[in-house]
Amino acid sequence: ITAVEQDVLDEIEEHDIDFLRLQFTDILGTVKNVSIPARQAEKAFAEGIYFDGSSIEGFVRIQESDMRLTPDPDTFAILPWRDREDGASARLICDVVNTSTGEPFEGDPRYVLKRALERAEEMGYTVNAAPEPEFFLFEEDEEGRATTETNDAGGYFDLAPKDLASDVRRDIIYGLEDMGFEIEASHHEVAEGQHEINFTYDDALSTADNVATFRTVVRAIAAEHGYHATFMPKPIAKVAGSGMHTHLSLFTEDGENAFHDSDDEFDLSDEARAFTAGILEHAPAITAVANPTVNSYKRLVPGYEAPVYIAWSDRNRSSLIRKPAARVPAASRVELRSPDPSCNPYLAIAVMIHAGLNGIENDLDCPDPVRDNIYEFDEQKRKEYGIETLPSNLGDAIDALEEDDVVYEALGEHVGDKFVKAKRQEFEEYLIDVSQWELDRYLETF
Ligand code: GLU
Ligand code: MG
Ligand code: MG
Repeated sequence: ITAVEQDVLDEIEEHDIDFLRLQFTDILGTVKNVSIPARQAEKAFAEGIYFDGSSIEGFVRIQESDMRLTPDPDTFAILPWRDREDGASARLICDVVNTSTGEPFEGDPRYVLKRALERAEEMGYTVNAAPEPEFFLFEEDEEGRATTETNDAGGYFDLAPKDLASDVRRDIIYGLEDMGFEIEASHHEVAEGQHEINFTYDDALSTADNVATFRTVVRAIAAEHGYHATFMPKPIAKVAGSGMHTHLSLFTEDGENAFHDSDDEFDLSDEARAFTAGILEHAPAITAVANPTVNSYKRLVPGYEAPVYIAWSDRNRSSLIRKPAARVPAASRVELRSPDPSCNPYLAIAVMIHAGLNGIENDLDCPDPVRDNIYEFDEQKRKEYGIETLPSNLGDAIDALEEDDVVYEALGEHVGDKFVKAKRQEFEEYLIDVSQWELDRYLETF
């Protein structure tokens, strides 16, 4: 038992915790739980907890189903929404170990991200990441099912009384703070019922853990208020969708921001430019991972501040990568604007890091920033600027992933194969469906 593990045991005692939820995520990013009585905590740290991995999406084949969860003591947090009177619950995020080899299980998304961070470390960097998840709060119907109705007519940065959901948002923020989140800002987003809550940047692994936790907390607390919170990228056509812009920077071993150079016009170092070039080069394949649902591609259309074109800029929001203004050198970073909150944060951050590091390793040339609104460019003008387009549907994105060795290898063969297979199937189901749009358009016409 390590000192940090002992601290967790003390906290369990002190806060009268009865149950521990051991959490991990499947390949699709869904949080899974194994609940154990808190008195088993010491055993969980010492020996791990065994579970049958064959029932978890994308984990293992049936004949090799024994997996072990090793709780990461740094991730201990008491769950704020459980009834404290019946004894509280806490969670620990776990790494997954393959019991037959004793090695990390290569199907564990957290391990995929750890591999990316190891590569960064070998190159002399640590990685910081900050996400900006957006979501909608919808009313529930009498049966408690989600609708797409909002009772608030707020707009960007509007305050109450228009922003009726701000009470819910406030409670969500208290819940997140109880779980150790440092909230920087929250605001009403552009669409009715749409919100954004920003939390402080952290090392990339903690940030991915935080995204997984964030989605759980937001949904649970919204549900307590009778709202359904959704991270679906585009729940309503023709209004803004929900993104999860992701800010990234590399730091050197002496704690310097490797992305900052005050002599540069945009305060960007050569490393930052090469990293940006790497992401631009692998953008189509990254999209499959950062935008992994059929619905993701309804968001990636012109006109709603979501990216469509593969370019970077220091100011405009129509580009894929933005270099936000940084007040201090430590804040120099690049913002990838394509990811949406339906992605698996571990996998999405891992592929971005690998693509960027590849740019640095190969000393890729970064194109010039595009400072005009690219939504307004016609095809001719995009050709002149050499601007390519992101995949326009899940099928094309998966094709791009299969053709891109860097991104595919970032996932590893196990996750790569299972991911491609699951997503192809999802896309094919979608293709044979007959939608309401088709019925409205054709049923009476033909
Ligand atoms: N909702 C927009 C998107 O889909 C982003 C708006 C913003 O810049 O925060 O990415
Ligand atoms: Mg936003
Ligand atoms: Mg942003």
